Amino acid sequence: MLLDMRPIISDGKTSIDFDIPLQKEDCAVLTELYPDVQFDFPIRLVGQVKNMAGYMVLKIDADIKFTTPCARCAEPADYSFALSLEKSIATGDTSRDNDDYIFIEDMKLDIATPTLEEIIFHMPSRVLCREDCRGLCPRCGKNLNEGDCDCKKTQGDPRLAILRSLLEKDDPSAK
Ligand SMILES: [Zn+2]
Ligand SMILES: [Zn+2]
Repeated sequence: MLLDMRPIISDGKTSIDFDIPLQKEDCAVLTELYPDVQFDFPIRLVGQVKNMAGYMVLKIDADIKFTTPCARCAEPADYSFALSLEKSIATGDTSRDNDDYIFIEDMKLDIATPTLEEIIFHMPSRVLCREDCRGLCPRCGKNLNEGDCDCKKTQGDPRLAILRSLLEKDDPSAK
């Protein structure tokens, strides 16, 4: 996604406001990196480029929303976060290796790449459908948010389970 910089560079404007939707096809890197994540496209980039007499600054705000399998129970879990980034735009001879700057090419500024980098930086390593998700039973695979399974009695330390079954044999009231 390229922003035309001519209003500032050629026409002497001091700022450019934009409100640009980032479509799914602009974000191939996200679907590649996070194949299980369903992002809410388009991602709306609202921002401004400002010419501050001598240097230029890019600001972008965006709300990122997505659905991904819960890390515990694998049911779809919703997640969202607000993104706010600010980058200096290189106007002179700045080294291309400098991550603090973004570069204008052919009068255009790539606003998708810094946004995508920022999204990747802020992606949570795991998402839960709810804070107290009980996950799946490790034995039968039942989703424990929907209720207990029959394995519950024997869960825990298997040695204790053996002990418990011995005690149950001795104690007629436990049957
Ligand atoms: Zn869950
Ligand atoms: Zn179970």
